Amino acid sequence: MNVDHIKMLFDIGELNSLFINTANIESFLQKIVTLVSEHMLADVCSIYLYNKSTDELVLKATKGLNTDLINKVKLKNGEGLVGTALKELRAVSEAEGSQNPQYKYIPDLHEEEFQSFLAVPLLQGNYKIGVLVIQRKAERPFTSTDVLALRTISVQLASMLANAKALAMPVEDQTDSITDYADDILPKMIKGKVASEGYAYSRLKIISNKNNYLTDNNFCFLNTYTINDFKEALITTENQLEDLQKKVEEKLSDAASLIFSAHLLILKDKQLIDKITALIQNNVNPPDAIIQIFTEYRNIFLKSTELIIQEKTQDLDDLATRIIDNLLSKEDQTNKFSDHIVITREVFPSELLKLSAENISGLIMVGGGVTSHISILARSLQLPMIIADDMKLMSIPETSKLLMDAHIGNIYINPTDEIVKTFEQRNEAQKSFLENQKQLILPATTEDKIKIKILANINLLSDLKSINTDIIDGIGLYRTEFPFLIRNNFPSEEEQFIIYRKLIESLPGKPITFRTLDIGGDKVLSYYDKTVEQNPFLGMRSIRFSLTHMDIFKQQIRAILRASAEKDVKIMFPMISSLDEFFMCKNLINECQNELKSSGIDYNINPKIGVMIEMPSLLFIINSLAEAADFFSVGTNDLVQYTLAVDRTNEKVAHLYQPHHPAILRSMKIIADAAKKYKIELSICGDMAGMPEYIPFLLGIGIRHFSIGTTYIQKVKSIIRSLSVKECKKTAKILLSKNEVTETSEIIDKFKTKFQTE
Ligand code: PEP
Ligand code: MG
Repeated sequence: MNVDHIKMLFDIGELNSLFINTANIESFLQKIVTLVSEHMLADVCSIYLYNKSTDELVLKATKGLNTDLINKVKLKNGEGLVGTALKELRAVSEAEGSQNPQYKYIPDLHEEEFQSFLAVPLLQGNYKIGVLVIQRKAERPFTSTDVLALRTISVQLASMLANAKALAMPVEDQTDSITDYADDILPKMIKGKVASEGYAYSRLKIISNKNNYLTDNNFCFLNTYTINDFKEALITTENQLEDLQKKVEEKLSDAASLIFSAHLLILKDKQLIDKITALIQNNVNPPDAIIQIFTEYRNIFLKSTELIIQEKTQDLDDLATRIIDNLLSKEDQTNKFSDHIVITREVFPSELLKLSAENISGLIMVGGGVTSHISILARSLQLPMIIADDMKLMSIPETSKLLMDAHIGNIYINPTDEIVKTFEQRNEAQKSFLENQKQLILPATTEDKIKIKILANINLLSDLKSINTDIIDGIGLYRTEFPFLIRNNFPSEEEQFIIYRKLIESLPGKPITFRTLDIGGDKVLSYYDKTVEQNPFLGMRSIRFSLTHMDIFKQQIRAILRASAEKDVKIMFPMISSLDEFFMCKNLINECQNELKSSGIDYNINPKIGVMIEMPSLLFIINSLAEAADFFSVGTNDLVQYTLAVDRTNEKVAHLYQPHHPAILRSMKIIADAAKKYKIELSICGDMAGMPEYIPFLLGIGIRHFSIGTTYIQKVKSIIRSLSVKECKKTAKILLSKNEVTETSEIIDKFKTKFQTE
């Protein structure tokens, strides 16, 4: 069969429209089986969903078999060919299904004439969703390409079907609790830490549990509403969600991830809406009816042992609140946070994204739950953010105005006109300075005419919006985990393919370095494995995660290879500790290339494959590594952390985090010498490359590629232009001759002062 059909079918837009045009979940599933059967040229397509509590697969939709048996055909896990696919977590393909001893005859299903059988399990990570089955008449058996195609389809469908499955569970009861905060007298100014630079002056909204109608038992609705008000609120909610979805896509194409798809799907759940409607017809006030039924569903989700289902309570809370808000107020709730500073105690990356889509002016995080990827994301979204550990913030009246100076971390409550004026002037001056800087396209050539390449570090595609891309020579580090961090579930191969292709197309002719998933450490996925590790930076992080979850790893590699066919692309692996790990990664690339080749899909036949040097163990095998790799990129953030055994996120030991430590400087020299000897490209992509005081040393040991955050580019370029490599070599030699930290720190500090005043 023609693989282009699959590409077309699983285009995000098409899946999106599938949701939007679907009246309820049953018909959504029915549409899927019809589409899949058409694209796979199959006579039959069926979806079975897995019920963990009964350990059974239930037929939920079919095209081609007897639809009267939907919800009636139930197979134990492992029973029949369908059950075998789930139990053994593999595709089952048979030219003559009934000949297989595992085959189970089901009366009245009418599958006798469709002997050619192919079933693939539907999985999301370790979570079993069900089985997707296609069948044909015996004379047209399925090929290995069909198996591959159906697997691709099943991966693409998994997250949506997980939502559908969550909604199809039986109702049970459970209670919930809330927390509350103390009130206090407000100060004029609260000090916090800068997480993302910027300035904001606006009204505020506090997000606390009180905004959640499902978890707060104290709501009393004074007005009575009609069934028509309820229906109107549903339509408004649907329009708002579709609008938000569009805005997110405009802002961050990486999030073209159907982030609101779960909400839209719940909204289309006929059973749920019918239950609410029935209560309203029995004279229950619509907001109370919504709370009652949504709470039933919430309790079911909470009771699930599957994290992936428990996570969905967030979506239910969100949706119920949105519908009720729309019901109570005739005013448009779409932009209820728009142009407001949001104060909250906890936020997931996906929630931050929603808030950013609503154009909030700033974010203040109060106390715990702060992980650094929220700050990095806020920076990518160019959203001012301050972290302040002061509970008084939660009780500021929402009628107040706040001024956030996220350059130094001050929050002013109802500031005087004078303060506001001073800040506005400073902000204007800063903005025009940045605008002018954006226009400058000066080459990074040293005084003695050595050309240096300046590459950008990016986390999300939107990072490129803040710069004129003419000022960079390419991307030296694309942290691919960020599209994973901002979502509610793992992006599929197809979604990643679209993101990666967009990035490649936005920088024609310039090389792009993809760093494969670097999850773990402080970068925790909201939707995956909440087990707490004792030492997360020494645990299941980065390449260890990828090599343990080969399915996820392979999808990413395939997506990169597909997106970069005939393009100048590099792939590098983070946290590599041995040659063996590097070879495993290289082999995987090879395997993916072979698979793509045999499926007739275009792919990159010759990407440059490199290693991130982040572990001290590599120093001792650096020559063999240089022989095996196409390039090195030094991740100094981790190299310093692991060499000096200093947690890079722990403030208590921050003074020991010393990139100028003689051991680090000498490690860098060893790496540079190996790269030179084996004639492979070497770049620095850790923060050290963007710190002015280290530039002379780095140039001196032979670094010619600097990969840095977009905000540091102009500064680094102008420093490079002021230096001569000849002089830098002398500096490096002196630094390398020092044995004590105090000695190297004295020299580095001098450069720091020099560049600060320039
Ligand atoms: C590094 O460790 O220096 C690096 C660039 O990777 P990250 O900061 O994403 O861990
Ligand atoms: Mg790193």
